[in-house]
Amino acid sequence: MNEHLSFYIDGKWVTPEGRQTLDVINPATEEPFARIALGTKSDADNAVAAAKRAFPSYSRATRQERLDLLNAVIEVYRKRHDDLAEAISQEMGAPMTLAKQAQAAAGLGHLTRVVEVLKTYEFEGAINNTLVVREPIGVVGLITPWNWPLNQIACKVGPALAAGCTMVLKPSEISPISALVFTEIMHEAGVPAGVYNLVNGDGPTVGEAISRHPDIDMVSFTGSTRAGILVAKAAADTVKRVHQELGGKSPNIILDDADLEAAITHGARGCFNNSGQSCNAPTRLLVPRNRQEEVAAIARRIAEATVVGDPRSADTTIGPVVSEVQFNRIQDLITAGIKEGATLVTGGLGRPEGLNRGFYVRPTVFADVTNDMRIAREEIFGPVLSILPYGSEEEAIAIANDTVYGLSSYVTSGDPERARRIARQIRAGMVHINGSRGDNAAPFGGYKQSGNGREWGRYGFEDYLEVKSMFGYLNAGKAA
Ligand code: NAD
Repeated sequence: MNEHLSFYIDGKWVTPEGRQTLDVINPATEEPFARIALGTKSDADNAVAAAKRAFPSYSRATRQERLDLLNAVIEVYRKRHDDLAEAISQEMGAPMTLAKQAQAAAGLGHLTRVVEVLKTYEFEGAINNTLVVREPIGVVGLITPWNWPLNQIACKVGPALAAGCTMVLKPSEISPISALVFTEIMHEAGVPAGVYNLVNGDGPTVGEAISRHPDIDMVSFTGSTRAGILVAKAAADTVKRVHQELGGKSPNIILDDADLEAAITHGARGCFNNSGQSCNAPTRLLVPRNRQEEVAAIARRIAEATVVGDPRSADTTIGPVVSEVQFNRIQDLITAGIKEGATLVTGGLGRPEGLNRGFYVRPTVFADVTNDMRIAREEIFGPVLSILPYGSEEEAIAIANDTVYGLSSYVTSGDPERARRIARQIRAGMVHINGSRGDNAAPFGGYKQSGNGREWGRYGFEDYLEVKSMFGYLNAGKAA
């Protein structure tokens, strides 16, 4: 058992104020493999104080100094890529290939992207005689989830560093090990003392202390809508900026002129990827009513070909889900789907055959799902696909938009104009057209209860900046 009982504050590993610890469970074995310290409000206060002290100096670092620092982080990150992937796989169960090629790689992608943004970003512009400048917002609190743990950390820490902010990170207590490796990387890269601080802990204690803290100027939160609301409430008293990346229930509209085989294969794989634990997973598959049977047959084939198993095995498509709590929640929602009258096409309750240990879930497909069922409304966060039949294009759009969420969406049509027309009518922060992948230069984020603000690329960077108008700056030599 590896013990990681220190936090990183003011450029040093320090002993926490509190004594509580938490075992980190490997979801593939259900065994603890590491132990972390759980922070208290005083630990959060110490970290915020260090970040506040570091701000005046770091916020004045030149563009080139920040670029050099980011490039140093990238260099060490590359060296530790496999350690990061190993940690991610152990703490949240991602297959090693996914952990290396997608999870750890995505984090690196955000760091290299923000370097590109920073190289050419225009921080100043004139409006009449006013000079409008963008400045770092200040001390930022970063609170992250377990499902793409390093991706989330990097897409916050990267722009914060690039902007000239100082920060306190609280990663998910379920996936804290990759964050610790990341912190070693920051230290080795020479990030100045106090610029980046790490405090482990649970949400109601450390997360809440960060959200409420008067010396934090912005909280960037990724996680559930439930916790995002609590963060916003705690932040309200100090009117800090709250950046939220929350849950989703993304529709995947397949039109009658689409290549069904390709579109359903892509959609079902997208839903099952990372064991269904992605906020933007295409979980509601909307298909023409008269093609539902055909669609269900393809989805069933994909589900049954999905190899659930040991994250270390190269043959594994998906590993376990992250925890017992999550496993039970998925079972509860599968039960709800059956009770509410959806047709169980494949999968269902219990573990896949032969996997008696580990939080493994059967890839599950439901057909005849209506949009009022719990499986269509609630974020399941497991490998469960719901097929919803529709009559007309208008009905498909109405079903797609009938959700409190608005994170991502997907549309596939043989007619590019039709796909574009539908994309414009979906109330979501992102639409993937005809199987296209996301692009980390373009903004990532949601409408409605999926969040506020955007991450990735230039938009994500700008969320870490304040805007200052200096009226008369350009004609200051002249009397008013
Ligand atoms: P969670 O909300 O339980 O936890 C996320 C983080 O918030 C953790 O660090 C947790 O400790 C902290 N937290 C919990 N309660 C808090 C409180 N009261 N105050 C402050 N912090 C608190 O979410 P999770 O289970 O770790 O992650 C899964 C959720 O994250 C899903 O809903 C998923 O859709 C969402 N997510 C969204 C995005 C996005 O970009 N929109 C990306 C990844 C995950």
